[in-house]
Amino acid sequence: MKKLILLLLFISCNQEIPKQNWQKGNLHTHSFWSDGDDFPEMIIKWYKDNGYQFIALSDHNTISQGENWYKLKINDNKNYALEKYKKSFGDWVETKTDSSGTYVRLKTFEEYKSKLEDINSFLIIRSEEVTSYSQPVHINVTNIKEKIEPATGNSVLEVMQKTLDAVHAQRKKFNIPMFAHINHPNFGYGVNVEDLKNLNGERFFELYNGHPAVNNLGDDTHMDLETMWDLINISYYNENKPLILGIATDDSHNYHTKSSNHSNTGRGWVMVNSEKIEISSLIEAMESGDFYSSSGIFLKKVYNTESEFFIEMVPKKGIEYETIFMGYREGSYEVEELKRVKGNFSKYTFQKNDLFVRAKIRSNELIVNPVIVGETMQAWVQPIVVKGK
Ligand SMILES: [Zn+2]
Ligand SMILES: [Zn+2]
Repeated sequence: MKKLILLLLFISCNQEIPKQNWQKGNLHTHSFWSDGDDFPEMIIKWYKDNGYQFIALSDHNTISQGENWYKLKINDNKNYALEKYKKSFGDWVETKTDSSGTYVRLKTFEEYKSKLEDINSFLIIRSEEVTSYSQPVHINVTNIKEKIEPATGNSVLEVMQKTLDAVHAQRKKFNIPMFAHINHPNFGYGVNVEDLKNLNGERFFELYNGHPAVNNLGDDTHMDLETMWDLINISYYNENKPLILGIATDDSHNYHTKSSNHSNTGRGWVMVNSEKIEISSLIEAMESGDFYSSSGIFLKKVYNTESEFFIEMVPKKGIEYETIFMGYREGSYEVEELKRVKGNFSKYTFQKNDLFVRAKIRSNELIVNPVIVGETMQAWVQPIVVKGK
């Protein structure tokens, strides 16, 4: 009887859920245009061949334009980077050699986009990791049109705010969707929670970054990024700002050697609910929080009504899931655990005093090639404001 009731309950929940189309993407990647160790087309090809629907190469302080002859380094030769590139792309590859070495012309954004993008199935987005020289601030700008120079300033907050303001100004100037996201706050513990609380106009930050040097989990004296996320959102909620949304990225640099010491592909990504694989609908969905971030888990449905929050996993044989609903409640000073649910489906009924609620999903499946040995797959669903201020 209990099983039947659960089944009926599930069917009735499911009927309310509109069709969802999850598009997989990585918004943080490096190539030879800055400090990555491979050619843009090789990197893009990897993402295209591995189930992604969109990719942004976000090299430091460049938007991959103009003539750029890259000089091969000793390590590139050890990696057979040019040989692999030629094998995949043949006559498309341009090289020249003189007494100082071998040079390869890096294809510009327009060139690699026209070579590898597939309308309706694979999108290549222009990006830049705006990297400050004066403060430890790295900010990615997705769908950038004109290069943004790194800002200078006397504090982390000042540099972050100037960069954000430049992004908003550019968005207005061209009238196209674009957004900034704050990268790896715990890299060198350069950006702290107070800096992020004081920002105006920021909607996204990296909750999970696959680079081995970014300290997603903090240490004895620094908080982890999930705790940081909640504290920022308590502050944003109370100040009536839109909540900050957490994204997962690869921040990949190393494409020839895979190990926990290298920043490799496939560690963190976003899944965006968008029917079309085009920039305006992807950004619109992300800005409305209609996406989740993952280090391995795939969700089938993420849905909420006025009274309930509902999540369904893509089931996997032998893998167990646990959903933890976390929330900020009236009269509280922290985000607390509200409910834990084991299994492929989870549901939370909003309570009268809930202000915002998010969900985190854990699994017992080990990540292949993790940064932390023994790390298991997770997913993070964006916070929902239950009761506006
Ligand atoms: Zn960075
Ligand atoms: Zn980076």
